[in-house]
Amino acid sequence: VPAPSGGHNSNRGEIHMKIFNTMTRKKEEFVPLEPGKVKMYVCGPTVYNYFHIGNARPFVVFDTLRRYLEHRGYEVTFVQNFTDIDDKMIRRANEEGITVKELAERYIAAYFEDAKLLGVRPATVHPRATEHIPEIIALIQRLEEKGLAYRTDNGDVYFDTQKYRSQYGKLSGQNLDDLESGARIEVDDIKHDPMDFALWKGQKPGEPAWESPWGMGRPGWHIECSAMSMKYLGETIDIHGGGQDLIFPHHENEIAQSEGATGKTFVRYWMHNGFLNIDNQKMSKSLGNFFTVRDIREKYDLEAVRMFLLSAQYRSPLNFSQEQIAQAKAALDRMYTARDNFEFLKQGAQERAMNAEEAQLVEDTKACMKRFDDAMDDDLNTADAIGAIFELIKHANVTLKPGCAKEALEAVIATFKEMTGVLGLVKEKEEEKNEEVDALVEARAQARKEKNWKESDRIRDQLKEMGYVVEDTAQGQKVRRV
Ligand code: AMP
Ligand code: ZN
Repeated sequence: VPAPSGGHNSNRGEIHMKIFNTMTRKKEEFVPLEPGKVKMYVCGPTVYNYFHIGNARPFVVFDTLRRYLEHRGYEVTFVQNFTDIDDKMIRRANEEGITVKELAERYIAAYFEDAKLLGVRPATVHPRATEHIPEIIALIQRLEEKGLAYRTDNGDVYFDTQKYRSQYGKLSGQNLDDLESGARIEVDDIKHDPMDFALWKGQKPGEPAWESPWGMGRPGWHIECSAMSMKYLGETIDIHGGGQDLIFPHHENEIAQSEGATGKTFVRYWMHNGFLNIDNQKMSKSLGNFFTVRDIREKYDLEAVRMFLLSAQYRSPLNFSQEQIAQAKAALDRMYTARDNFEFLKQGAQERAMNAEEAQLVEDTKACMKRFDDAMDDDLNTADAIGAIFELIKHANVTLKPGCAKEALEAVIATFKEMTGVLGLVKEKEEEKNEEVDALVEARAQARKEKNWKESDRIRDQLKEMGYVVEDTAQGQKVRRV
C-alpha cells in the first residue's frame, strides 16, 4: 500500500492536536519542532518470540497516530527498532540450538507478516541494535567524556546516576532518594549506586560479543534506543512512544543517557499506551492466558483485532475477551457492508445537480469528518472517531438511493475512505481480492507439496473463475490475470 501523501484538510500552521505528555502529565498542544514535519520513535519488540496481543496495542496505536498525522498534512519520519540482542535472545537461541542472528531473522520476518495482517505499515526505518554497535559505542564514549559513565573490572560500563541526581526520575515522577531506598542492594554488586544501569556488558563465555574500547562485549538494553533515535531523527525528536511499563526504567534511562550526552531535550512529547488485560486479568505465561498474535490469527481475522484495539482511547486499559473480538468483528462487518453498498450505488449514480437531501448529506459528511478530526485531535480518541464513521454510514444509508447524484455519493465515499484509511481499517476491493488470490496460490503450493492433485486442480479452477490463470513452472507457480 503506498503511503498516503498528506491529507485533504491539512492546515499547516494552525494547531489542532492535543497529546497527553507523560513528562508534564498534561494534554498539550502538539507543535512539532520543524513546521510540517514530525519525528517519532517507538520502542519495538525484542525478537525472541512471536509478539503477543499486548505488544500489538502500541504497534497499532502508533501506526494510527502516524496515519493521522499524515492525514493532517505532516511529513512523518517514523522509527521503530528491533531489539535483537539481550539475555532473552541469548537464552532462547541456546535452547533452540541456533545463533542469536538466526533467531532474530526468524522473528523479524514473523513481525512483518503479523504486523501486515494487523494493518500496521512498516516504519520509515526499522533499525536493529546489532547493526548499530559503532553508534552505540560512540554514545557511551560521549557519556564517559562527560563523566557520566564508569567501567568496572569485569568489562561492564555503567551510567552514573549519582552524577545525574537532579534530573533522574523526572519522567516517572520519582526522585533518586526514593528510588535508592526502595532498591534491593546485592552484596556483591559492582555498581556504585543501585540505580546505575549497564550501558555495555562485558562478554561472558558463550555469548555473542563485539569489540569495543572496554573489551569484547555487547550493549545494554536502553542505550540502543538513544543511539538509534539520534542517528535517524536527530538529538531532539517530537514524539517517543511505547507501553506504560516502559516509563520506568527504560524511558527514564533513555532520557538520562541522551540528555546526559547532548545537554538537549531528548523528546518533546512522551506517549504511553495503557495495558491490555485478558478476561480482566494480567496476561502472563503462568496464568495460561498468554496469546501471541500468531495464535489469535488462527481463530480471528486480525483486522477485527485492530478494530478492537482501536475501540478504546489508547491510554485506557483494555480488556481482551472473545465477546470483545466478536463485537469488533460485527462492527467491522458493518463498515464492509457500507463499503459494498457504496460500490453498488456507483453503477446507477447520475451526473446531475443534487437534490436538497443530497446537498444536506454533503454537509453532514463534512460535519462527520470534523467530528472525526476533533476526536483524533483530542489525544487520539479513536473510540469517538469510530463513532463518527458510523454516523456517516447512518446519514448515507438514509439518503443514498439507486440513481442518486454522483456528487453526493463521491463525497461520502471520499470521506469514508479517508476516515477508515486513517484507522487502517476496511480494505479496498482490489486489495481484498489480491489477498484472496495470494492465499489460494499458497494453499495450492501446499496441496502440491502433499501431492494432493485433486485439491491443487480444484484451487486452479477456483482461481480461473476469479480471472487468474496458474502455470506450473520449475520455479513454482506463475499467476497471470486474464
Ligand atoms: P517488549 O517486546 O516486551 O519490549 O514490548 C514491546 C511493546 O509492547 C512495548 O511498548 C511494551 O510496553 C508493550 N506491551 C507489552 N505488554 C503489553 C500489554 N499487556 N499491553 C499493552 N502494551 C504492552
Ligand atoms: Zn526503547
